[in-house]
Amino acid sequence: MKLSITILPGDGIGPEVVAEAMKVLEAVASKFGHELDVSAHPFGSSGLESAGSGFPDETRDACMSSPAIFLGAVGDPRHDHLPPNERPEKALLHLRRLIESFANLRPVVAQFVSPTSPFKSETLKGVDLLIVRELTGGLYFGEPRGFEGEGKDRRAINTLRYSTHEIDRIARVGFDAAMKRRRHVTSVDKSNVLETSKLWREVVDSVAKDYPDVKLEHMLVDRAAMEIIANPASIDVMLTSNLFGDILSDEASMLAGSMGLLPSASLGGKIGLYEPVHGSAPDIVGKGIANPVGAIASMAMMLLYSFDLEDEAKLVERGIESSFAAGCVTADLSDTPKSTEDVGDHIARFVADA
Ligand code: NAD
Repeated sequence: MKLSITILPGDGIGPEVVAEAMKVLEAVASKFGHELDVSAHPFGSSGLESAGSGFPDETRDACMSSPAIFLGAVGDPRHDHLPPNERPEKALLHLRRLIESFANLRPVVAQFVSPTSPFKSETLKGVDLLIVRELTGGLYFGEPRGFEGEGKDRRAINTLRYSTHEIDRIARVGFDAAMKRRRHVTSVDKSNVLETSKLWREVVDSVAKDYPDVKLEHMLVDRAAMEIIANPASIDVMLTSNLFGDILSDEASMLAGSMGLLPSASLGGKIGLYEPVHGSAPDIVGKGIANPVGAIASMAMMLLYSFDLEDEAKLVERGIESSFAAGCVTADLSDTPKSTEDVGDHIARFVADA
């Protein structure tokens, strides 16, 4: 199979972790006889510096011409002084909107219990959850928004708005995912207070009728925040809106042990976007200590969701498990760490030798 992928290494540790994911992809391609058609393009601060734009036209054309985009991270403190609209991070919002990726999938698996984890190991046993977050609607995009008035009358306005169509399509992503997992959806809302959440509940109930094999549970967001800490192994698929998903997914990321472990996929349109959850980590750039597992696991998600290559994705996941079992982990997880490259090499070798 020909795998056409647009690569956006981005900024900070982005290029470092992308290089390791590419090693693993090359091992997969050679093992299973796939042809790679990949090209890398500037994005974020690197785009701003080389082409005067965080999202150069040439990068945009490349993104629109392949079924999958693989991103490292964006953001550079040298551009923090720019107004919000010109900052490199804005390029990512433009990209998500351009490819209409309305569904963000973030799996959280507690595979490696780090000595620095704030959780007891009993709490982490069996944790394997998937957060399905609505990504292009809700409070972050609702109009009207902005500031008005002066002095003590100055006010700020944001609008929370959801349509039946938006809720229906994200709910189906959640239920479809649950069918491939433990068949349990926890839908999170604030229906005791918000009209948008009442509609959310109504629409999710109606979608659930098409999935009789999936158990549906509704949960208020405040209780969901508690359950993630108190009883995380009981959660299979957590389905929620943009704002709640943003907050709960960062909370849940703590269960995995490090930001550097978490992958994500943004789906919904014709083009899938895959990226580790972490940012450009300027504090550790160039030191060879960035954890590449989030990027490598995002590559596995890409193989599964954009190319339907389940065996290949599973093999990469087993390679990650093997690196944990061998103690081949970076400094965020161990006092006797291996380098970014060592971890990438271990997983690529596992794939090649399997
Ligand atoms: P961050 O995720 O970059 O870093 C937070 C902390 O986690 C840092 O201490 C960092 O060293 C550590 N960390 C992150 N990834 C790691 C990895 N792979 N291995 C080991 N440790 C890792 O978040 P931040 O510091 O808030 O933001 C830094 C920059 O990244 C900002 O410019 C921000 O806007 C940008 N950002 C981009 C994205 C994205 O590209 N999707 C996401 C979040 C933040």
